[in-house]
Amino acid sequence: MKSEKDIVFLVTGGAGFIGSNLCKELLSRGYKVKCLDNFSTGKKENIVELMENPNFELFIGDIRDFNICDKTSNNVDYILHQAAMGSVPRSIKEPCIYEEVNIRGTLNIFEAARKNNVKRVIFASSSSVYGDVKKLPQKEGEEGQVISPYALTKKVTEEYGDLYNRIYGLETIGLRYFNVYGKKQSPDGEYAAVIPKFIVALLTGEKARINGDGLQSRDFTYIDDVVEANIKACFASKYAVGKVYNISGGGREQIIDVYEKIKKCLGIDREPEFFETRAGDIKNSNANIEKAKIMLGYTPKYDFEEGIKLTINWYKEVLNK
Ligand code: NAD
Repeated sequence: MKSEKDIVFLVTGGAGFIGSNLCKELLSRGYKVKCLDNFSTGKKENIVELMENPNFELFIGDIRDFNICDKTSNNVDYILHQAAMGSVPRSIKEPCIYEEVNIRGTLNIFEAARKNNVKRVIFASSSSVYGDVKKLPQKEGEEGQVISPYALTKKVTEEYGDLYNRIYGLETIGLRYFNVYGKKQSPDGEYAAVIPKFIVALLTGEKARINGDGLQSRDFTYIDDVVEANIKACFASKYAVGKVYNISGGGREQIIDVYEKIKKCLGIDREPEFFETRAGDIKNSNANIEKAKIMLGYTPKYDFEEGIKLTINWYKEVLNK
């Protein structure tokens, strides 16, 4: 039996927003961490503070390359698979690369895990798999039709996760994240998420953009809750495997209210600009998280007010450096 300290994690996409937060927390708990990333959207600055840690090992490589997946999975206990192309609108413009990275890349990770007898693979899925379902809250097993290539890739990876569990006995758990936000989320580029874009626009004197009327709503999830969900999923009972779980903060905020709350927190009064609704965007999201509560022991610790304050403080610190 391995001691706790000898447990090895592989975090794919470990230089990204969620992955780098995962690496940091795992290291702080004394585990060994391998990070695999191709730096397509990941950043060195997200992991620079981890580089000196003797328990941290960085592998620069692409999950589309089976050999690097195989090599980095060797002697690994748990894989936290985060590497993927994000962004619904980008997937509508460039569907082929989503198929290559999100589907084939994930298949490579499952296959490498099977070959190397990895104990369990936790993989990032998304609320986008609920597609056009109108009923709220969204519940596992009650999905609608997907409305973007990104969502389809996540749906397919969930199917592969289930199949690898049933036919090979590989322990897989899919986590359907709902709009994650917090420290280290990139505000850069046209495909950045709404919270870092709002905060940085307000702090740098620019006008924030809102797509649609702003009345669309999201179930926002603070990053530390997502990190905790991943770790809980690794050590949850065997009855939890082969399934997918909603992971969210459990609330619902309209985008216009998010903007107002950030404005108020920052004490800055500037109106946003409104643009067309983006294709592929769902109108509302709100998760039922009972399944994750019961099977994984997951309970979100951060409500939106608390999470957004922590997030704003982090961006203020970074921008003042
Ligand atoms: P991110 O873009 O910050 O992180 C993704 C990481 O994967 C990056 O470091 C990137 O360089 C790496 N990567 C991309 N393609 C790769 C490849 N071919 N080979 C190796 N590495 C590659 O995004 P994130 O927000 O941290 O998302 C992490 C995961 O969570 C993704 O699977 C995403 O689809 C999923 N997810 C995120 C959210 C959210 O709100 N952030 C919501 C639902 C699902």
